[in-house]
Order: sequence, then C-alpha cells, then structure tokens
Amino acid sequence: MLRVEEFFQIFAGDKLPRVPVIPFVMQYAAKVAGIRYRDYCTDPEAMAESQVKCLEEFDYDAVNVSSDAHRLADALGGDLFFPEDGVPVVRKPPIRGPGDLQGREVPDPREFPRCVQRIEAIKLIKEYNPRMTVIGWIEGALSDASSIFGPTNALRAFYTDRDFLKRLFEFSAEFDRRFARAQVEAGADIIGAGDSLASQVSTESFELSVEYTKDIFRSITVPTLYHVCGDTTHQLTVLRDCGADIVDLDRELDMRQAREVLGDDMIIRGNVDPVLFVKESPERIRDLSVECIDRAGKNGAFILSAGCEIPPDSKYENVQAMVEVAKSYHGHT
Ligand SMILES: [Zn+2]
Repeated sequence: MLRVEEFFQIFAGDKLPRVPVIPFVMQYAAKVAGIRYRDYCTDPEAMAESQVKCLEEFDYDAVNVSSDAHRLADALGGDLFFPEDGVPVVRKPPIRGPGDLQGREVPDPREFPRCVQRIEAIKLIKEYNPRMTVIGWIEGALSDASSIFGPTNALRAFYTDRDFLKRLFEFSAEFDRRFARAQVEAGADIIGAGDSLASQVSTESFELSVEYTKDIFRSITVPTLYHVCGDTTHQLTVLRDCGADIVDLDRELDMRQAREVLGDDMIIRGNVDPVLFVKESPERIRDLSVECIDRAGKNGAFILSAGCEIPPDSKYENVQAMVEVAKSYHGHT
C-alpha cells in the first residue's frame, strides 16, 4: 500500500514510486470479509471491516466507502429494498413531480442513518490506520436526480421539463456539498462522485448535469474523482472540463484516445474490463493491465483499476494479478 502522503504526490504532479492501483471494490470487498452486502450498506463497522480486509488481502492503494447510489433517496423517505446480499434498489422514488420538491428542505446528511453510516465508516478506517488513503463518496447530479426521481423520468425530463430537472440537480448538488464536507471532516482524503448514466445521455445533456457536479467539486477541499460508467467517448470533452482531479473511465474507452482528449495532466483511472475478472485467466488480466498503463499511464498521471466495480464473483488470482502488474511495471521501452 502506498501511504497517503506517498499517494498524494500524484496531485502535486510528481511521479509516484510505482504505478498506483485501486480496484473499485464494494460487493467484492464484503465477500472477501465474509460480510453480507445488506450489512455493508447499513452498518459502519461492516463497511470499514470489508474495505480494510480487502485492501490488506491484496495490498492495493486506497479504500472507498461507496456501496449504492441511493443515500439521498433514502434521506428523502424513498421506498428502498435491501436484499440480504445484493445492491439496494429504490422501489418508489421519493420525488414524483415538481410538487414533491416544492418547499422541501435539503436534508442534512448528519441526521440520516445511512449517511451517518458512511461518515462513521470513514472515521473507523482512519482510526485503524491514518496512513490508509480513504476515498469518500457522493453522487454526481445526474445519478442523484435519477435515484430520487427515477431514471426514466430523469432522462425524459431533459426533453420535457428542463427547469424542473435543473431544480433537481441544484437540490441534489446542495445535499452532496454537505455530504462531502461531512466526509472530509471525518477524514476522507479524496471525494469520489459517481454518474452511472453518463453514457446514456447526449453530450449536451451531460454538459448540463456536469455544471452542477462541477459546483460540488468546486466546494470540496480535498482532491476529487469522477467515476462514469459505460462508453463515454462522446463525453470526453465534458470530462476534460469537469473540475475533478481524477477521471475514472469504464472499459469501453480507448485509453489512448482518452489521454489525448483529457491531456497529460489529468489523472486517469481505469480501465480493465471488470467482467473478465470472473472468468479470464490471471495472464489475460496481466496483459490487459500492462496495455492500460502503456496506453494512458506513461506520464505518471494514472491509476490502474478495472473500468467499474469488479463483480463479487471475481477470481482471487485475477485481482492479485492486476495489483502485481502495478507493483512491477517498468515499461517496455
Ligand atoms: Zn461504473
């Protein structure tokens, strides 16, 4: 594990002692620790223990406290279902139309159990080992809007009611600014924000939502990471100007092209195909990891990872193989 002060050289534009590697683990971490995912999503100790155990098992470089995209929906009284060992889902979004937002106060994350859970998990990890880099977590404006209003409604609103959509974005952004602040106070070293629908909207629609996500990033006093899912090739110019320090790209992106558009200074994280961790051999994961670094990582502003969360059924040797590549990479030329 790179200690937090070593890892932070990356934000000063300095080369790290080696290529950093941070697999995006949530369900997999719970599985390694033998913890049910419902507990991981609701109990601070279960989350902290899963993340710490998984990092110590593989010795990569940072933990994260993400689990699902629905903490704001929860705080607003949405109907959520928590499967015993799966990702929570919103059964009924708390916002059904403009009337539901009227006069509604932005929730204070410190008052809602599942937000407090994440904040407390950060404290527990930092108490256990202050030198462990902790990535706190919030949602991007698009992700929050789709969680509290329903994904189909949110996507439709780009064409039918932009004013209301903007109000949703602003409401969510205010919540996330507060939530990020609370996590930084608890000890988070980096704040990550996720937007899983980034690939599903036009460049122009994405740009509109990113204006609000950018405002969240601007308010955060520690380095920031923006995680987007799917093929976001058409969003690269928006990502270049999103204001985050790290852009976290999914498997579909050509890393060489991403580097070209995002520029040499942007820290890129990615992007081995997560699905391959389940069935492929460690040799294949090793080759793909080397390829990623070759394509995007040679200037140092790079973190090796899978493109998105690695599945809970990933093979142990495959996670190990990716970490080993980062530790032993010396380039080919
Ligand atoms: Zn993703």
